[in-house]
Amino acid sequence: MRSIYDAIVVGGGVIGGSIAYHLAKRGKQVLLLEKDRLACQASSAAAGMLGAQAELSASNPLLPLAKKSREMFPTLSAELKEFSGIDIEFINKGLLKVALTNEQETELKNLINSQSWTGEEEWLSTTEIKKIEPLISDDIRGAMYIPRDGQVSPYHLSIAFAKSAAMLGAEIKEFIQVRDLLFEDNRVKGVYTNEGEFFSENVIVASGTWSKFLLEKVGVKIDTYPIKGECFSIMTHRPLLEKTIFSHGCYLVPKIGGRIIVGATEKPHTFDQRVSIDGISALMEKAKRLLPAIKDTEFERAWAGLRPQTGDGLPYIDEHPEFHGLFIATGHYRNGILLSPITGQIVADLVERNASSECSAFRVDRTYQINY
Ligand SMILES: Cc1cc2nc3c(=O)[nH]c(=O)nc-3n(C[C@H](O)[C@H](O)[C@H](O)COP(=O)(O)OP(=O)(O)OC[C@H]3O[C@@H](n4cnc5c(N)ncnc54)[C@H](O)[C@@H]3O)c2cc1C
Repeated sequence: MRSIYDAIVVGGGVIGGSIAYHLAKRGKQVLLLEKDRLACQASSAAAGMLGAQAELSASNPLLPLAKKSREMFPTLSAELKEFSGIDIEFINKGLLKVALTNEQETELKNLINSQSWTGEEEWLSTTEIKKIEPLISDDIRGAMYIPRDGQVSPYHLSIAFAKSAAMLGAEIKEFIQVRDLLFEDNRVKGVYTNEGEFFSENVIVASGTWSKFLLEKVGVKIDTYPIKGECFSIMTHRPLLEKTIFSHGCYLVPKIGGRIIVGATEKPHTFDQRVSIDGISALMEKAKRLLPAIKDTEFERAWAGLRPQTGDGLPYIDEHPEFHGLFIATGHYRNGILLSPITGQIVADLVERNASSECSAFRVDRTYQINY
């Protein structure tokens, strides 16, 4: 068994998987370590929206990156299918960001009209929406239609990244927990795990909301915390929706096979992943208001996951400025599925010392300006 690698990735979620895939594609010998099962955390709890414009404001430095990442999905979907045989269920039918109040209507119309916005979206009246989504509630006053915000199956995407990386020669090991990072002076040397040591001059911490615990052990502080999100799914016997419906505090994402995912609650600073009656019943009320026909559908299941959030809302995608070879890729909050392809590409560039300027807003040392 090999114990020296070009790169070791810690964490088998969508971010770790994408990094392993992009590095393996460039011919690197990669080891990916996951303490449990692949994609067992946030990456399988997500709804899978590629909501670049639905989620991010025009001034957010993440927007250009998110759009770039979103545009990678059509090619990526075909590529991953070829390598892994897995269909990531990429659906490109757009998203309706709906207004239920006067204020929301004004806000969305202003967004569309603002020169800083992207020009790819349009306002649809209730009558126009009813033509494409006839079952939508009469309470909806109109919507910003974002044709390019598609969606995927987050679980299949995560597994497809890992399996494709493996097809390209990466070693993927589940149930191995990285307990510490190994250094020689200020240069990374490898990782210490429950199965012994593995060596590499490039270690990428992509352990979601648990990244900070590993980094703390070597004195590296990052400003991250979990935001719990709950969702539920229903099964419908006839198609109720074609496009994703996105509203304040609730979205409906129609999946293949008659399933609709309804999400998501937000509770910061907790590692408790139990599903609460409060959370799910509040979502059910909001969902019924958006799509009344939902009350006759069959409840399937409910779940919770932990989004990795940061103090300033931007992810860390960078090499640590003091520890050579230590890379950090976490803090993707509500957009990790969307941002996974571009994150994998940027980290592969960083490891190859071919860093792109896109990374400046996502530097690790910006945390030094934040007061703990
Ligand atoms: C309810 C909900 C809905 C969401 N909806 C969307 C959406 O529609 N679109 C979107 O883009 N994003 C969405 N997100 C956000 C998205 O899921 C996350 O941003 C993304 O999954 C983060 O991926 P990750 O790989 O960083 O973390 P994770 O998926 O949490 O993976 C981290 C992995 O690291 C492993 N790990 C931790 N410590 C160690 C260690 N010491 N050794 C080895 N392994 C370790 C963990 O077991 C875990 O598997 C949603 C999230 C939630 C919770």
